Amino acid sequence: MALNARLDHRNPLVFDTHELGRRPGALQRLTREIDAPKDLGIQGVIGVPEGAPVGLELRLESVMEGVLVTGTARAKAEGECVRCLEPLELELDADFQEMFSYPDADDRGRPKAEPADDAEEDEDRLFIEDGLFDLEPVLRDAVVLALPMQPVCQDDCPGLCSQCGARLADDPDHHHDAVDIRWAALQGLAGSLEDGEKDEMSGAEAGVDEKQEK
Ligand SMILES: [Zn+2]
Ligand SMILES: [Zn+2]
Repeated sequence: MALNARLDHRNPLVFDTHELGRRPGALQRLTREIDAPKDLGIQGVIGVPEGAPVGLELRLESVMEGVLVTGTARAKAEGECVRCLEPLELELDADFQEMFSYPDADDRGRPKAEPADDAEEDEDRLFIEDGLFDLEPVLRDAVVLALPMQPVCQDDCPGLCSQCGARLADDPDHHHDAVDIRWAALQGLAGSLEDGEKDEMSGAEAGVDEKQEK
């Protein structure tokens, strides 16, 4: 798919290898700050907001069959704690390494693989087109891998109170004296049972009430 769409050198995630050249062993280091593309991260969980700055450091190395790109992306990711739902931010530091092949690499000495293997391999391979390569799929994969699937605001976040939804980390001694009317009614009932009617109740019902009181 990407092979047919021409790369645009004005796209900030498209890099030019002309300066590097095709002599194996040639090296080039690049830094670039880009605006985060849409949906960079794990959707609905945590990600880099669209337009937020992403710092890229790249090292391009010319090899026989293409350009080996090694790099790091740094950005701030935003999401929310899966336990207490509080917004959180984390410094993202995503490393990547990817080979971008020359489209004609196969014709330049690489032994042809078995047809089946070749087709499979080609789907994952990234290519250089007219001396340009598109870092976007590599950046996306690296960012997803570097982000937590279940981000928490702190490792021991106690989450939310199951009764009132308060954030327990803000109030570690948080507890409820039964103030809810329904609870008060139950407590009154339990109290009257204890005052002597208990023996007349069936064992099962008394058991339920005792459980709820705790
Ligand atoms: Zn939390
Ligand atoms: Zn509570």
